[in-house]
Amino acid sequence: MSSASHRVTVIPGDGVGPEVVRAGVRVIEAAGVRIDWEEAAAGASVFETGDTSGVPAETRASIERTKVVLKGPLETPVGFGEKSANVTLRKLFETYANVRPARELPGVPTRYAGEGVDMIIVRENVEDLYAGIEHMVTPDVGQCLKVISRKGSEKVIRYAFELARREGRGKVTAATKANIMKMTEGLFKKVFEELALEYPEIKAEHLIIDNVAHQLAKDPAQFDIVVTTNLNGDIISDLASGLVGGLGFASSGNYGDTVAIFEAVHGSAPKYAGKDVINPTALILSSAMMLRHLGEGAAANRVEDAVLVTLEEGTATTQDLVRQTGGDVDTAASTTGFTDAVITNLGRGPATLKARRPAVAAANPPVPLPAWSYSPDHYAAIERRTVGLDIFIETEAEADRLGPELEGIAEGGPFELHFIESRGTKVYPSVGLSADGVRLLRARFLTRDGGAAADADLLALQGRVAARQPGWTHIEKLHVFDGADGFTKAQGE
Ligand code: NAD
Repeated sequence: MSSASHRVTVIPGDGVGPEVVRAGVRVIEAAGVRIDWEEAAAGASVFETGDTSGVPAETRASIERTKVVLKGPLETPVGFGEKSANVTLRKLFETYANVRPARELPGVPTRYAGEGVDMIIVRENVEDLYAGIEHMVTPDVGQCLKVISRKGSEKVIRYAFELARREGRGKVTAATKANIMKMTEGLFKKVFEELALEYPEIKAEHLIIDNVAHQLAKDPAQFDIVVTTNLNGDIISDLASGLVGGLGFASSGNYGDTVAIFEAVHGSAPKYAGKDVINPTALILSSAMMLRHLGEGAAANRVEDAVLVTLEEGTATTQDLVRQTGGDVDTAASTTGFTDAVITNLGRGPATLKARRPAVAAANPPVPLPAWSYSPDHYAAIERRTVGLDIFIETEAEADRLGPELEGIAEGGPFELHFIESRGTKVYPSVGLSADGVRLLRARFLTRDGGAAADADLLALQGRVAARQPGWTHIEKLHVFDGADGFTKAQGE
């Protein structure tokens, strides 16, 4: 038991949040760890005050002070309007690694019980489609930018390998859709393959994300650590939770360079709010992850053990678990009752399924990462050439009519029209495909000789197109880096 005191920001959150967070705080205190809690608000109550970020300045200031957060779920308005306060928190504090263990638990019956499911999903947490860069490009076409950077990929992938080392795990699987999204998911895969060389003792494999979904349903015990991009990770980590008993048991930590946020995976489950019936296991196990992060490894072990004993003995079983076993929910333990049982069991160890202990047990430090810096040498070493322009145009014109017009605009200049496509499928010059067109087309112009294009020429071309096509919506420069096209072909090209 440590005598040092820690400061932690605690956000009770919405719906069942205050009940599960209270359970976590009680267990931490009973485990003998002294924490000065700074209570702070975020989510629905904040949106209601008119603060559209959902995370007020006082809460941000508290997190900057404490660097560690224990939080309940926050309700997210659906559809247009406010952004998710959860995503805002993760992005504001650059918690780039979302770590979600999914391990078989004693006394929790599942289809896979006894197979030894024991994996950690490490999900990139700030980039990808969650960058939230969306536009209605026309009144009826929405677009979302998928942003994946080398830096963001390297940080989370390195985190996954370092976690494997700390936990004494033998394999890291990268899950991407690199076969389809070559510039974004492909970059993530490339960085994974480069970094894997630095960890020769750890098996590194790459699987396409749809195959990972298939394998997770078929043989989940094969996975050890899975590292993946944000949206993929969002989906497969919920899937993984389902394999080991459901959201009531799924814990998580969001780790950044300076701030870490610990929370249950589940949401605010509003229909159960205030009823003292929700399963607090997920939040209690997230609290154990937090203790480990604070360097309170012994207390983290005690909490994990007490949860395992409580589940194993089944003396306090919450409604969600009783439902899964076909029992009478009237006999189920309350949230408070389950928490009391965990507290009573502190100091005991499970008989069947032992808790996992990090291989580096001493102080259980946060996973160490080298500082990332943009190397000017790296950028200077890349040979680059701007070779053209994609222009997006909102138009009712048929591609067969627009094509010759754009060819006429380019005539005599350094560029030629390469193709026109509709939602990624080439429609001019026709390749015999019949895309069901919408009023948004993309025209690609490339330099005639493949040589470098001057900015002035690009802007002049854009100006000439815009003069004839006032419906142009946006442009994208096309580059070649070290001889490789930094843009994809159209389908059918
Ligand atoms: P939810 O996770 O709140 O609930 C879905 C269902 O899962 C519940 O009805 C319940 O049957 C079950 N469940 C969830 N947690 C449980 C627990 N601890 N014990 C027992 N059963 C549990 O998902 P939802 O209904 O889609 O979302 C409700 C709100 O929560 C939304 O506003 C959503 O945006 C938000 N949300 C927040 C977070 C977060 O803060 N990290 C995560 C997910 C959803």
